[in-house]
Amino acid sequence: MDVTSVIESLNSAQRSAVTAPAQAMLVLAGAGSGKTRVLVHRIAWQIQVLGVPAQSILAVTFTNKAAMEMRNRIEDLLSISTRSMWIGTFHGLAHRLLRRHAEQAKLPATFQVIDSDDQLRLIKRLLKNLNLDEAQWPAKQIQWYINAQKEEGQRAKHQQPSFDLYQNQLLIIYKAYEDICQRSGLVDFAELLLRVHELLRDDLELLTFYQQRFSQVHVDEFQDTNTIQYAWLRLLTQNRDNLFVVGDDDQSIYGWRGAKIENIHNFQKQYPNHQVIRLEQNYRSTGHILKAANNLIAHNQSRMGKELWTDAGDGELISLYSAFNEQDEAYFVVEKIRAWVQDGGLREDVAILYRSNAQSRLFEERLISAAIPYRVYGGLRFFERMEIKNALAYLRLISNHHDDSAFERVINTPTRGIGVKTLEDIRTIAREQTLSLWQATVYLLQQNNLSARSANALKTFLMLIKNLATECTDLELFEQVKRVVERSGLIELYKKEQGDKSEARVENLEELVNAARLFDFEQDAGEALNPLDLFLAHATLESGEMQGETFEDCVQLMTLHAAKGLEFKLVFLVGLEEGLFPSQQSVDDVGRLEEERRLCYVGMTRAMQHLYISYAESRRLYGRDTYPRPSRFLRELPTHSFQEVRMRANVNRSVSTPKAKSVSPSLTSGQSYQPGQQVSHPKFGAGVILQIEGEGTQERVQINFKTAGVKWLMIAYAHLQLS
Ligand code: ATP
Ligand code: MG
Repeated sequence: MDVTSVIESLNSAQRSAVTAPAQAMLVLAGAGSGKTRVLVHRIAWQIQVLGVPAQSILAVTFTNKAAMEMRNRIEDLLSISTRSMWIGTFHGLAHRLLRRHAEQAKLPATFQVIDSDDQLRLIKRLLKNLNLDEAQWPAKQIQWYINAQKEEGQRAKHQQPSFDLYQNQLLIIYKAYEDICQRSGLVDFAELLLRVHELLRDDLELLTFYQQRFSQVHVDEFQDTNTIQYAWLRLLTQNRDNLFVVGDDDQSIYGWRGAKIENIHNFQKQYPNHQVIRLEQNYRSTGHILKAANNLIAHNQSRMGKELWTDAGDGELISLYSAFNEQDEAYFVVEKIRAWVQDGGLREDVAILYRSNAQSRLFEERLISAAIPYRVYGGLRFFERMEIKNALAYLRLISNHHDDSAFERVINTPTRGIGVKTLEDIRTIAREQTLSLWQATVYLLQQNNLSARSANALKTFLMLIKNLATECTDLELFEQVKRVVERSGLIELYKKEQGDKSEARVENLEELVNAARLFDFEQDAGEALNPLDLFLAHATLESGEMQGETFEDCVQLMTLHAAKGLEFKLVFLVGLEEGLFPSQQSVDDVGRLEEERRLCYVGMTRAMQHLYISYAESRRLYGRDTYPRPSRFLRELPTHSFQEVRMRANVNRSVSTPKAKSVSPSLTSGQSYQPGQQVSHPKFGAGVILQIEGEGTQERVQINFKTAGVKWLMIAYAHLQLS
């Protein structure tokens, strides 16, 4: 399609953003107003109309999925390949730069990217090495500290020792962590960004090269960039003022991970000649959905302020479902999806959005029993599965023998008779002599103090890795993976394993070979990078929240955080309960509460035509039964934009006069009771029955308690007393 004709399908504000000359520009606009569309069209415009070469395009998006969509949309518009364009996530692009310039970045050419799970293991091992008790120094907190430092651009050496012993110890750990990563050639996610920043900052020649190469730097979801990401963008554009960013302050949802909404203000200060464009028409959602979302977000104090409108008409009311427990909620949602599909709706147009990953399980179970295909984003995905990580660790060790984290993972997987004591000795030598675990093993063998059995086991392991490395040199990538999967003993290990997971694990390993076969590494001409290293980095970057997969006709399950930028015809926003959403940790902190509200705004504005919001009146959470109150966000929606819905039509709503009773029998299933009766509950006190549903053990009542409010309870378990 011709771009000029496409420009006509934009509104005038969008068009002026797309066609503006290269300059600093901020498109600040609410959800669904076409920001991403503007970004894509601007790239197309530059290539088609301004004749900018494809390799001068740099675009950063938040997820791999978004990056892939962006590529597809540009290809659709221009009918050209996007291979030579730099389109990706901050992490993906940083990785690409580091691979090209590993030496200048002071990294071994075989450096490996580790995900946060591997990072945590490494920290745990480090704490042991430093003789620090994990009870006092929780690894997760250390991990958080290290990443936060890196995201602020701070190295251990930048920090002054203080009088605070705790701070000093943290610094020592941070330094030791940096050392071990450098020694083993490991790069964590935060390090990718920091390293690239340092590389560009300190190498003027390289910086100038990239500054000249990219004619305009485009950033989607700018509100969620962190300090180091912004510093990186700034370096690339500092002499040319050619930073084009789109974002929405109301959708800033990564503050907890270091994202800085202040970057929008900084941008406005640091690029004084910038232009701001606001988009106000929403093209995604129908009127009721949009009005409710606008109303909700208006409760936040710290906003840049904007209002969205649509000419799409009011559309359907938002449906609110009060479930009596979490099972009922899942049942309700899946029933609605079943009906949607029966009416000819596509599954891929449906999303279930939740606050925390743990909520997905119940929906999955229900979907499985209803035989509805689904895909979960943000749970344990392919590259994060144990068997896959083990196979990848073998591959990493083959590529770099000094990758300690891979070494630890596979030295005894499958078990090969290397005892705990021998392993401890290896670690001690490595620590005392600053060697990699591989070198320490070689050293230990040279000492000749080991039992014949241990020595043999270690030798066999080293030989296995060395031989595989030699054998793999001339093989194609997928053959390398195949060889390693077969020879590592992993297949036999999982074949022998008991239980229903065993077969799936073997299949997954086969799938890994397939993934390697299909792996299409984007390379500029002239880049001679090792396919295995690229594949390994791809596997790490594709897991975690950054991952993306192609949509098939599956129902989509994901956290609200992962739903950013996406849109679906039918959306279920579930678990709107105090303590869950907003989360318990956020309710006492105004700033965090506002971030939760923005998250809710993001969730609601994913819906195009149909939005269901649900909450459960009792929920088993972290092994305990809880009776949460409905989320405060529900009270912030305008009452005229939603309707309460019920599962069944035959609900008894008649309220009759309560009969006087002189005795107080316990109300159990099968007993006669009716709406209007006064009852009391051991925990919630006195209340009046509003309605009754279900039969037998599933029978439940809705009661309006004087102090605890309206709740659904199971009669069989509620221990109600007539009063
Ligand atoms: P978010 O803030 O959620 O990322 P966004 O501002 O990036 O949203 P887009 O995803 O670009 O919004 O657009 C939302 C929807 O509206 C898309 O389906 C897009 O194709 C459509 N759209 C945007 N602008 C127009 C337009 N001028 N005419 C028709 N459809 C449009
Ligand atoms: Mg967008």
